[in-house]
Amino acid sequence: MPGAPIVVVGGGLAAGSAVVELREAGYDKEIVLFAEEPEIPYERPPLSKGFLQGEKDRESTYVRPREWYDEHGVDLRLGEPVTSIDLQRLGVHSDAGDTAFDRLLLATGARPRRLELAPTEQIEVRYLRTLADSTALRERLGTEHHLLILGGGWIGMEVAATARTLGTRVTVVEPAEQPLLAALGSEVAARFADVHRAQGVDLRTRTGLDRLEGAEAALSDGTRIEPDTVLVGVGAVPNVELAVAAGLGVDNGVLVDSGLRTSHPAVFAAGDVANAAHPLLGTRIRVEHWQNAISQGRAAAHALLGERVSYAELPYFFSDQYDLGMEFFGHAAGAQHVRVEPGDSDDAFSCWSFRNGGWSPRCTSTSGIAATSCASASPVASEQRVLSRVCLSRRGLVGVSSRRAGRPCPSGSARRRRSAAGRAAPARRGDRARA
Ligand SMILES: Cc1cc2nc3c(=O)[nH]c(=O)nc-3n(C[C@H](O)[C@H](O)[C@H](O)COP(=O)(O)OP(=O)(O)OC[C@H]3O[C@@H](n4cnc5c(N)ncnc54)[C@H](O)[C@@H]3O)c2cc1C
Repeated sequence: MPGAPIVVVGGGLAAGSAVVELREAGYDKEIVLFAEEPEIPYERPPLSKGFLQGEKDRESTYVRPREWYDEHGVDLRLGEPVTSIDLQRLGVHSDAGDTAFDRLLLATGARPRRLELAPTEQIEVRYLRTLADSTALRERLGTEHHLLILGGGWIGMEVAATARTLGTRVTVVEPAEQPLLAALGSEVAARFADVHRAQGVDLRTRTGLDRLEGAEAALSDGTRIEPDTVLVGVGAVPNVELAVAAGLGVDNGVLVDSGLRTSHPAVFAAGDVANAAHPLLGTRIRVEHWQNAISQGRAAAHALLGERVSYAELPYFFSDQYDLGMEFFGHAAGAQHVRVEPGDSDDAFSCWSFRNGGWSPRCTSTSGIAATSCASASPVASEQRVLSRVCLSRRGLVGVSSRRAGRPCPSGSARRRRSAAGRAAPARRGDRARA
């Protein structure tokens, strides 16, 4: 509806990044942001790392300080979820009433996949997605606690590292042969498994939880343990219910074109919830990563302003576990080969995945970040196509571009700044997010 505000639904990183970008791009009309949580937009990576460990405070997770929204005239509706969207009248509904929109951004993110697992009197069952979850989980960590983690994915392994750092007894059960296998492939996954075992994690692969009984957890390997907390980390599902009810195209997320537009011309989607047509990969991808939420949120702001947008960034992901830093670039689906290259310290390495014709020499000497451009510069049918790269290092992240030039690795924060800088982010944002 012309003259109505831009409405953003979702109070996470994609929503926050979009709102910031709208103001930085000079949009001076009304913006209304609806958030289900009672928090201003914040970043989630610290929830399994520095915030969980007690090293970072709540404010350090904020996309912008609270005052910023007042100063920039953003109407924050915190703790007020949108309950329906009316695409005929161009309006959203919440408990407080109806709000018309000119353009709408859906940035409703994802939520943890739930298991039918009842807690017992002695064992609590937890999930991790929000600041509140992380605060509550922190109470269950420390030397007197035993944490059983279901799932050796990102959340599980990051929490395992933080919990061990705090002296918690940690058992991880993972049905696959390695933790992080689907995300990283066996070479890198094995490295992570070794690190966790060396740190004292009881990591049991090809194992699951059969049931909780009183004070005991019966595992599928026939053993019984006595954790006081179970953390379920078995993946996330996109929050698509609003979009489905409104009749928007949905399939593993809200379907958007490369301009982040949904099946309705006034409605856009970004972040974990968006399943976007990727102009370089020639397929759809839904990315559940921090950098994507920032970059897509910003790109969506420009789309909301009526600019022509083609979102072509390749996924970038980072993880910190103990003193191990990892960065992942690209999109490994369809990889036929991997090649592991030593890094610039004994236990650092890079792992490239590629397909069709094998190793691409022109990509070997580019930086990790440029490698994504290198991969993206290769058209889909290219003979030698690098798909992804994982860099691991114990002493800060591997700086491939610097290696090429014979310089020492840049610090992790310098690399993050580069990757997070995008168009308009202040340099410190990347640093703060890494917690
Ligand atoms: C514990 C944890 C650690 C992570 N660590 C890393 C990491 O190390 N590296 C990395 O790259 N990525 C990491 N991620 C992933 C990254 O945080 C996500 O990709 C990012 O948060 C996605 O942002 P988003 O805004 O799309 O969605 P979300 O952050 O999920 O935000 C969506 C928001 O929308 C709200 N919402 C939903 N429905 C409605 C509604 N109807 N009305 C109003 N609001 C609604 C939700 O409550 C939520 O607050 C981590 C995620 C978690 C949970």
